[in-house]
Formats: sequence, structure tokens, C-alpha cells
Amino acid sequence: MENNIAISVKNLTKVYNAGSNNEILALDNVTLNISSGSIFGLLGPNGAGKSTFINILADLVRKSDGSIKVLNTDHASNLKKVKSLMGIVPQELNIDPFFTPFELLEIHAGLYGVPKKDRKTMEILEMLALEDKAHVYARTLSGGMRRRLLIAKAMVHDPAILILDEPTAGVDVELRTNLWKNIEKLNSKGKTIIITTHYLHEAEELCNEIAIIDEGKLIAHDSTSKIKSFIDNREIKIVYNNKDTIDLSSLKNLNIDLNPNGKTLEINYKPSEIKFNDLLKAINESNIDIEDISIKETRLEDVFLKLTQS
Ligand code: ADP
Ligand code: MG
Repeated sequence: MENNIAISVKNLTKVYNAGSNNEILALDNVTLNISSGSIFGLLGPNGAGKSTFINILADLVRKSDGSIKVLNTDHASNLKKVKSLMGIVPQELNIDPFFTPFELLEIHAGLYGVPKKDRKTMEILEMLALEDKAHVYARTLSGGMRRRLLIAKAMVHDPAILILDEPTAGVDVELRTNLWKNIEKLNSKGKTIIITTHYLHEAEELCNEIAIIDEGKLIAHDSTSKIKSFIDNREIKIVYNNKDTIDLSSLKNLNIDLNPNGKTLEINYKPSEIKFNDLLKAINESNIDIEDISIKETRLEDVFLKLTQS
């Protein structure tokens, strides 16, 4: 296998047994290679199987079938080594409240067998802007600080791969921006980053590689720019008053999809091809007496529709 692959997953399947003959197929035969050095986004709606995927990697959930290699090391037969290669931040904010962040990191480093002289506890806390909180009880930390503490914990053994499950769920905007900066910094130092999220815009900005899963199935995996081209569409809806005096010739000169319909005009266009300003100018020249205008941004759901209908 090539050594530019961080995680290679083959035919990964997970069936949860939810009691009384109720089986849930959470991962359905997923085969996927994640490139080394990437910021990889695993996207999908709630219940798609993202956490199941991460938790199998973390050895918190047992797979039903398939195989996993982490930096060319087999997950099933060499789990200890595999765990040393990954730092995983789970979706749930589980923190022992009676320790301080400093103590928690030290304990965790001990668990991973990091010698005292090699520990970078304060450096890691500083990187996550928690140095002021190093010696307070974890129970006094805010949700955002707990999230950062979990990331710090995942970094104590200096793993090559950092995996974050929904790191910004319930996190305020300022912290989110901060978190992304840190993630980009880590990535520029050579770490492979894997994040799950159901915020497409977030993934768009941060990730250079994206996979989309839906109902346990991998439905797309490509560079972010390729994935984005799937959703290169924006819909503008104009409600107008003056049906008879409208002149659509300027708009018709643009390569857009026009759909006038009595009192409304729907415009679909590709933002990569048409400048918004040119579109506005053409709308202006159409002599439309605008009553209302709305712009619909393409959502992840739209991508799903596109991908699953083809
Ligand atoms: P995501 O993280 O994308 O929201 P999950 O991996 O948490 O999705 O869940 C995938 C599917 O598996 C969902 O239908 C969920 O209800 C189900 N599931 C998750 N964990 C369990 C469990 N421990 N027992 C039974 N079903 C589960
Ligand atoms: Mg989840």
C-alpha cells in the first residue's frame, strides 16, 4: 500500500443490535482512503454513521465487518500501535471534573507511556488557550473550554493523526474560528486532521478532502473543490408587481436558468461562472418592480439529492 495514506478502510460495516430483532445498519460496506497530511471532512446528516466510524477507529465500538489500516498498520491485530498513531476527540464532552487540566493531561500522558521529560503539557495547554486554566478544577470550565481540553488530551502522545468528532457543535463563533486556526496550524506541521461535521460551510472552508456518508453509505469522496462543483448552484427568487412592463433581455444574455412564473421570477445560476454584480445589473435593467427577493444557499441536503438521484 502507498505510504501517503493515513487511514485505509475496506468494506467497513457496522450493524447495531438494538434489541428485539431491531438491527440498525449504521455503516454499510464503506471503503475509503484518507490521504496523509490532509484536512479530511467526514460529512453527513445526523444519524449518517459518522460517530460510528470514528468510534470504531477509537476502539469504542466494535465493527461488524471490514478492515482498517492506520498508517499501514492493521487496526485489528496491532491495536496498541494504532492507538499511539491517533488522537481522538469524541463527540461527547466527558471530562473528569475533579482534576485540573494540567493533571488530566499528565495522567493521560502516563497512560500512553510518554516519559516525563518528553511531556509538553503546558505547551499543549497554551496552544489551546487553556494555560490560564491549567490548575483549576475541570468542572469549572465552560463547554468551549472542555472541548479544547479534550483536544489537548488527544494530543499528549503527539499522534500523527488527529480525529475530531463534531468539534464545533454547540461552540460559539469566536471559539470556532480559534479552533479552526489551531487545526490549520497543526495541519501545517504535518498532522493529518479528520473532522466530522454536519456544517457544510465549515467543511468547505477548512477541509481539502471531503467524504459524504448518508444512511451508512459512502456517497461521495473527492477534493473539496470537486465536491463544491456538485453544488455550484444558487437560486434567487424575485416576487414582482409589474408583469407587463418587464424586459428580460439582459438576463437572457447571461448563462443562467430563468423561470418567470406570473408574479415570481426564479433564477438559478452558477456562482463560479456568474458574478453576482453582473446578475444584479441585469435584474436592474429588466425594469422589475421588486416586491420581495430571496436567495437560497445550497445546503448539504441539496448535495445529497444531487448525488443520490444521479
Ligand atoms: P452520526 O454521528 O452521523 O450522527 P451515528 O454514528 O451516531 O451517526 O449513528 C448512526 C446510526 O446508528 C443511527 O441510526 C443511530 O441511531 C445508530 N446508533 C448509534 N449508536 C448506537 C447504539 N449504541 N446502539 C444502537 N444504535 C446506534
Ligand atoms: Mg455523531
